[in-house]
Amino acid sequence: MALRNIRKDGDEVLRKKSKEVDVINEKILTLLKDMADTMYNSDGVGLAAPQVGILRRVVVIDVGEGLIELINPVITEQSGEQTEFEGCLSVPGIYGELKRPAKVVVKALKAKGEQFETEGTGLLAIALCHEIDHLDGILFKDKAIRLVDKEELEKKG
Ligand code: ZN
Repeated sequence: MALRNIRKDGDEVLRKKSKEVDVINEKILTLLKDMADTMYNSDGVGLAAPQVGILRRVVVIDVGEGLIELINPVITEQSGEQTEFEGCLSVPGIYGELKRPAKVVVKALKAKGEQFETEGTGLLAIALCHEIDHLDGILFKDKAIRLVDKEELEKKG
């Protein structure tokens, strides 16, 4: 298991746009594996490559339904709306209430290079939007209706 250092808000790498992956080489496969290890180790539900300092369009997500690895993910459809609180491993202790689509369809490449489409509703839709935002240098707090700390979040149950 190889853990990578999670970059925190204020680190300029989080504000940069990530580049598409053109060749899925050993370096990208190691990155995917390390990102999954790092996400699970921090009890996160998603992690994007810029959060470990790598400006590549690579994302891992697990909302409790198994690991999803996404290379060059693009949202191709979105519908509905949901308003929920979300947090981020790069912004510890702060949670934001955001409006996100209720459902998204995302096109991406698998680690083996084949293209696939995944559909997400609920928490998965939020995670897909949140992680893809990271690839464009956007943090959840930029879009939040309001921000709260952990204590306030727990009060809301
Ligand atoms: Zn995040």
